[in-house]
Amino acid sequence: MTAPRMSRREFLASGAAAAAAGSALLPAPALAQGAPRVVVVGGGFAGATAARALKQADPRIAVTLVEANRTFTACPFSNLVIGGLRELGSQRFGYDKVAADGIEVAFAVATGVDPQARTVALNTGSSLAYDRLVLAPGIDIRWGALPGYDEPAAATMPHAWKAGEQTLLLRRQLEAMEDGGTVIMSAPANPFRCPPGPYERASLIANFLKTRKPRSKLIVLDAKDQFSKQRLFENAWKELYPDHLEWVGLSQGGKVTSVEPTEMTLVTEFGKHKGAVVNVIPPQKAGHIAEVAGVADRTGWCAIDPVTFESKLVPNIHLMGDAIIAGGMPKSAFSANAQAKVCAAAIARLLAGQQPEEPRLINTCYSVVGPNYGITVAGVYQPVNGVLTDVPGSGGVSPLDAPRSFRAQEALFAEGWFNTITSEVFG
Ligand SMILES: Cc1cc2nc3c(=O)[nH]c(=O)nc-3n(C[C@H](O)[C@H](O)[C@H](O)COP(=O)(O)OP(=O)(O)OC[C@H]3O[C@@H](n4cnc5c(N)ncnc54)[C@H](O)[C@@H]3O)c2cc1C
Repeated sequence: MTAPRMSRREFLASGAAAAAAGSALLPAPALAQGAPRVVVVGGGFAGATAARALKQADPRIAVTLVEANRTFTACPFSNLVIGGLRELGSQRFGYDKVAADGIEVAFAVATGVDPQARTVALNTGSSLAYDRLVLAPGIDIRWGALPGYDEPAAATMPHAWKAGEQTLLLRRQLEAMEDGGTVIMSAPANPFRCPPGPYERASLIANFLKTRKPRSKLIVLDAKDQFSKQRLFENAWKELYPDHLEWVGLSQGGKVTSVEPTEMTLVTEFGKHKGAVVNVIPPQKAGHIAEVAGVADRTGWCAIDPVTFESKLVPNIHLMGDAIIAGGMPKSAFSANAQAKVCAAAIARLLAGQQPEEPRLINTCYSVVGPNYGITVAGVYQPVNGVLTDVPGSGGVSPLDAPRSFRAQEALFAEGWFNTITSEVFG
């Protein structure tokens, strides 16, 4: 059954609620003593948004953004690069405009956090003092969690779950494969970055095979029986790729238990699958600095207060984006951007001695299933008993029985969304 879609008016209303201001309640020690300092680690969708939103909320706040790379390579739309429908150059963004907002941008790796002294150590040898710290490091791969899948294995069986060289490697492997070769993909158990991402990728690889290597086929081995937008994807696969895509769920023996990179083989409880190209989407965790700072728990992810996005483990450290457990909110760039705005507003209010307001947050995830074929899932979330929870009756997915013109329109919306979010965050 199709869940009801949220109207544009409801979207806007909940966005306005997220941005609404509350009443002044708390003392304002930091501002009384001069410019408060906020250090943001990670200049991705969450961190770059937070840095800019903080400066916008209160230009007196001294904001430093620490980012490992001078150029950011976006994951959304990187599946189109793998499928030969887009170039990696369109995924790349710099930080000049962020710096032009009055944000100090430090290209360095944050290597340590001292929560008592409130300092962040950088790999350059220097350290930065903070009143509030924002950690937005995204994900790291859990090397070895899938036996056999270590860092060297990713050179032969790319994950391409961090965009850049890995994306190009997978694309080149597909291009070099002989027509008739089998492509194998493994999808992990929840939670992981971008729940619909493996299925968008499967669709676009199938599209590549159908148009460029028609005797080839993709087999998706999945550690789950259910996934995001499942019926929409499955209907599209039946219609578009009946000969080029086979999905094997958990209960049909799809869970990969180990990998053999030298054999280009994935092992399940029921047998071995050898591929000409193998894409392993491995288990993940919060970016390493979260572990170093003591804000990641035993799950590998970070628990937060859903009003302030402050760590439940270490005070004065806020987190957002893929690194956190966000209740019902998926790990997406849309979520990261929305969480960052709420978190920045909360920090600005805390630093000004004001009480943050209860937020409402929105997420929309577009997936491109093929040329001129897009589908969506949307949700609205609010804190309930300390957990971000679906607002009853909100959100939903694209209609199951929509005409192709509707799918074409959603593909256009997807592109519009990508252009809008990247120009808001980096432009
Ligand atoms: C194939 C694929 C497709 C996707 N498609 C979509 C989509 O269509 N829509 C959508 O909404 N989402 C999509 N996503 C998900 C989206 O990419 C992530 O949810 C989003 O990037 C999360 O933002 P983030 O800021 O938490 O992490 P990131 O964007 O990964 O940013 C983290 C940043 O932190 C930096 N960093 C990490 N540690 C340190 C450190 N110690 N010191 C300095 N810098 C550090 C990194 O260099 C990086 O720039 C997709 C993901 C994938 C893999």
